[in-house]
Amino acid sequence: MRTFILCILILSGCKTNTADTRQAVSLIEDSIVHLNGALSINGTNMVNSRGEVVSFAGNSLFWSNDYYRGNMFYNKKVVRHLKDEWHADIIRIPMTADPDIHDSYLFDKKTNQRKLETVVDACLDLGLYVIIDWHSHKAENNETEAIVFFTEMAKKYGKHPNIIYEIYNEPLVVSWDDVIKPYAENVIAAIRKIDPDNIIVVGTPHWSQDVDDASNNPIKGYKNIAYTLHFYAASHKEWLMNKAQKAIDNGIALIVTEWGSVDADGGGKVDAASTENWMDFMKKNNLTHCNWSINHKDEGASALKPTANTRGNWSDEDLTVSGKLAKGFIEKWNQK
Ligand code: MG
Repeated sequence: MRTFILCILILSGCKTNTADTRQAVSLIEDSIVHLNGALSINGTNMVNSRGEVVSFAGNSLFWSNDYYRGNMFYNKKVVRHLKDEWHADIIRIPMTADPDIHDSYLFDKKTNQRKLETVVDACLDLGLYVIIDWHSHKAENNETEAIVFFTEMAKKYGKHPNIIYEIYNEPLVVSWDDVIKPYAENVIAAIRKIDPDNIIVVGTPHWSQDVDDASNNPIKGYKNIAYTLHFYAASHKEWLMNKAQKAIDNGIALIVTEWGSVDADGGGKVDAASTENWMDFMKKNNLTHCNWSINHKDEGASALKPTANTRGNWSDEDLTVSGKLAKGFIEKWNQK
């Protein structure tokens, strides 16, 4: 009988809401999420649950569709390796949602969302912050689909302190006032119906460079809104830093959800001096950032060589020049 009752207890324990279990696990001592808790935006800064200004460094994965097979790195072993060996605090998941890509979420919701959720769940289990990125260059064309997706994400994950929503990766050359801001307001309203607090980051015109445009007409009426800045150090120099500084001076908070040490198209060689300048700028302004990207595609921005194992356990020999450079900055960011 005792055994029987024990079995019942164990079985009912097993039926405990897995999300609750996960939250408990994600709060394991010494994980970055345990140390900092829920994040919010205070003026131009990201702050932790005690109101202290914080910034985090980590990695962006590659597109979630089959394009160059970057999605082979969407697994828990990779996330664990980045946490343990790169000391990454944050992982960004660029779920392909572009209308021009035939196997994106818009055409194969199940596969792309499953890949994304595998990585979100890994980040919850390991206590990392995670950016759920609607990776599109034309999100205004698919506002309805974005609202469906983020409503689902907010319901499933909105109670976890780990989550940041990125609702539009890189708009093209379109108007902030007339195109991006109205899209963002509608998607934000849908998320906020369910999740009142997790940070939402909004893309800006011109491949997320015109943050100054957003700062001239920021989104009002919602808390914990940040804006996306992307830079590629070999292409983007002081002129882009000046735009970023202007946006900060105008009072908006920036998150660098994507940066590279190479050319803006992902190719070319590393510009180490320019990357160093950008790191100084981000340090000075407490900007959180993710390096593009964890993949072994044969191009400059890839952190990994084509021989790298898709389940982590990489030696320095598996890293490209840009991968080694990025690892050096990420592991030292919070001097762990
Ligand atoms: Mg929440």
